[in-house]
Amino acid sequence: MQELKTEIAVSLSAPGETSTAGKVMIEQLSVGSRLVKACGMGLVGLLVTLLCVAVPLLHLVLVPLGLLMTVMLIVSSCKQVECIAGGEGVCPYCHKALTIVRRKKKFPFFERCESCSQESSIEPEASSAT
Ligand SMILES: [Zn+2]
Repeated sequence: MQELKTEIAVSLSAPGETSTAGKVMIEQLSVGSRLVKACGMGLVGLLVTLLCVAVPLLHLVLVPLGLLMTVMLIVSSCKQVECIAGGEGVCPYCHKALTIVRRKKKFPFFERCESCSQESSIEPEASSAT
C-alpha cells in the first residue's frame, strides 16, 4: 500500500491581515487504504446501530437510520481519493507557527491558530494550483 504524497504551497489569509505562506501535504489514498478506512467506518456505524437497538421505542427510528448512515459513511470514504495529510503555515494574525491537521481535501478550509485562537482561511497559492 504505497501512498503518494505531494506538497503544495498554500496561502493563509484573514480579513484585514496580510496573507502568509504555508504548505500542506496532499495524500493520494490507495484502493487498499480506502477499503481499510471504509471497513473501519462501517464497523463504527454498525456498532452505533447495535447500541441503538437497546433504546426503547426510539430504536424503531434509530436502527434504520443507523444502517442508512453506515452505508453513507462507507460510500463517502470509498469515494475519497485524496486528503490533506497535514501541513504547516504562519498565522496571519500573530505570525506564529500554525499546524494544519489531517482533513478531507476541500479548499478553501479554515484552521484555528493555537496561539491566538483566530481562524484563518487556507487556499492553494495561485501559482501551484493543480
Ligand atoms: Zn495566531
